[in-house]
Amino acid sequence: MLVAGDAAALLDHWSREGISYALRSGDLAGHAAARLAATADDAEAHTAADHYEQQVDDVLGVEMTASGTLMNLFTRNPGLVHTALTRLPPAWRRLDAYIAGRTSVAGIMTTPLVRTAAALATRLPLRGARRPQSAPPHS
Ligand SMILES: Cc1cc2nc3c(=O)[nH]c(=O)nc-3n(C[C@H](O)[C@H](O)[C@H](O)COP(=O)(O)OP(=O)(O)OC[C@H]3O[C@@H](n4cnc5c(N)ncnc54)[C@H](O)[C@@H]3O)c2cc1C
Repeated sequence: MLVAGDAAALLDHWSREGISYALRSGDLAGHAAARLAATADDAEAHTAADHYEQQVDDVLGVEMTASGTLMNLFTRNPGLVHTALTRLPPAWRRLDAYIAGRTSVAGIMTTPLVRTAAALATRLPLRGARRPQSAPPHS
């Protein structure tokens, strides 16, 4: 069985955007299904299915890893991410390009400035992240 989109848990962890992931993985799955239909035996079918999984990893996995890193960073220190995105012109320009569809989260996360900030921020203590609430006292 080939799964795509939400069924394959493909989405951007940071923006929660899932439509382009559904469209792009659906396109790959359609081509993989055509290849599967033309296979002669189980071994060829497995190869075709593995190829689909690899394509999804290569194309969408990279973006999901980058958005997961950004989400972790944001969860650990939302104030820092907000300040970087609103006050640092290179970061702001990247966000602008992302919103305009000219780059992906992977494109934001691979700039030297953001990569350095991400590496440093993982060493910072958690700030502003939502913490578990204690249970209300019994009345
Ligand atoms: C409230 C909300 C807001 C969102 N906003 C955005 C946004 O702004 N931008 C963005 O990119 N993403 C957004 N998403 C995510 C986006 O909607 C999904 O990632 C995307 O629609 C996934 O597409 P899909 O084709 O994988 O699944 P779906 O769009 O869920 O399509 C699956 C279809 O299969 C049908 N189906 C299910 N089971 C069966 C069955 N057994 N037999 C036949 N049909 C079946 C369902 O009825 C549905 O029509 C949002 C999601 C939610 C819930």
